[in-house]
Amino acid sequence: MTETLHIVGGGMAGSEAAWQAANLGLRVVIHEMRPKVETFAHKTGKLGEMVCSNSFRSDDHEQNAVGLLHWEMKAAGGLVISTAYDHRLPAGGALAVDREAFSEQITAALNAHPNIEVSYEEVTELPDQGQWIIATGPLTSEGLGGAIARATGKESLAFFDAIAPILYADSIDMSKAWMQSRYDKGETEEEQRAYLNCPMDKTTYEAFIDALIAADKTEFHEGETAGYFDGCLPIEVMAERGRETLRHGPMKPVGLTNPHQPDVKPWAVVQLRRDNALGTLYNIVGFQTKMKYGAQKEVLRMIPGLEEARFARLGGIHRNTFLNSPTLLDVQMRLKSQPNIRFAGQITGVEGYVESAAMGLLAGRMAAAEILGQPLATVPQDSAHGALVHHITGGAEAKTFQPMNVNFGLFRPLDDSAGIKGGRRGRRERYKAYTDRAKYAWQGWLSDQAGAPAAAAE
Ligand SMILES: Cc1cc2nc3c(=O)[nH]c(=O)nc-3n(C[C@H](O)[C@H](O)[C@H](O)COP(=O)(O)OP(=O)(O)OC[C@H]3O[C@@H](n4cnc5c(N)ncnc54)[C@H](O)[C@@H]3O)c2cc1C
Repeated sequence: MTETLHIVGGGMAGSEAAWQAANLGLRVVIHEMRPKVETFAHKTGKLGEMVCSNSFRSDDHEQNAVGLLHWEMKAAGGLVISTAYDHRLPAGGALAVDREAFSEQITAALNAHPNIEVSYEEVTELPDQGQWIIATGPLTSEGLGGAIARATGKESLAFFDAIAPILYADSIDMSKAWMQSRYDKGETEEEQRAYLNCPMDKTTYEAFIDALIAADKTEFHEGETAGYFDGCLPIEVMAERGRETLRHGPMKPVGLTNPHQPDVKPWAVVQLRRDNALGTLYNIVGFQTKMKYGAQKEVLRMIPGLEEARFARLGGIHRNTFLNSPTLLDVQMRLKSQPNIRFAGQITGVEGYVESAAMGLLAGRMAAAEILGQPLATVPQDSAHGALVHHITGGAEAKTFQPMNVNFGLFRPLDDSAGIKGGRRGRRERYKAYTDRAKYAWQGWLSDQAGAPAAAAE
């Protein structure tokens, strides 16, 4: 028998990683702390528990990046996705599931697998021997969180996310916005033009502040403490503290000249910064928020230049343990400083059930390939799994890294995208081209992994 793979955490990622590795022939031990040690969000001792909503989001594998991840997971014989389909509930185009039956079946499947053992205990140290996957999620226990922080450096492990909205670069109106760093700072022209600026006059600013104050906000879940208040205040809280606070904070208009109206001094300026190496995504600087999603879109589209903005992800602030993966992990999801340890799931800086299970799927397969001595090609960047793992392990800006969900902004632009840009029709063709390209690349990668259970997806 080959070396045992140890997986800490039997949530979305750990369950999927165990399934994949065990099906490739490895002996796997899952270490799960529940029900002995509880979290504020989990309610049972089951593996693969859905902690909040019962939705795996869109199931459209031609026009939606999450739906594409579903498709890829199914093609890879994924446990999480096949169980979700088994317990599907009516929900239009979304994949909603019966959560009880779902986690019941995940638990039964893992316990029944001849290569898998489940050990119910908390792990509190990062082992320096053996092969491990840490998949302990957003609510990693305090003991293990401390051990990870000691190994990676305190600044490299966050306990809250503070996500500013991220939008697609091609949805910004450049006849109103312009590129310029404050005071043209920077050595190179690229640095001097690193920010995208959206100007506001006084009337628009006042209306914007009113809308922020009036917007619907999300409350923290019970048990989640509001420990975010040190240095990353939500914009609506800043607006509530004083009508001028934002104008003296993230929206200050100094050091910038609007080339579209050089004689008019903006009253306030909203700045956006590139969010990925491809330059397809921009985040709104300092705009972390707890506004509800519907309200966010409405309020942010009041910003001149963002009237037609399409959002790759909306903002939020949550209790969330996650690593600065771009600096800490290699493309194989191993800790660079301790390569016997891989990370998977939400702790790697992805967000959501589907993305977390997908990162578990990759980590399980990567660990199996390494332990079995079978070389495994890099996950193709054109697949949805590849786009996500490349983003968190290198494509994202490390300095401002915040959790990401899968979206088409993470995909390499199409070579011939010039012909199918703009408008809804153009977008449909582009997304179809992305998903076709992804499926082809993913199937190629799966078929390369010897012995992989690559069940054909429909
Ligand atoms: C309050 C809350 C609400 C959320 N709502 C949603 C939602 O509606 N939709 C969505 O898509 N995502 C939601 N998420 C995010 C969601 O938790 C993740 O997307 C997903 O569950 C992450 O999968 P994971 O496997 O990384 O972590 P989890 O599914 O949380 O699994 C981690 C497992 O590790 C175990 N564990 C932790 N520490 C240890 C330890 N030291 N030793 C042994 N075991 C340990 C935990 O008990 C848990 O079973 C929410 C998160 C929170 C905190």
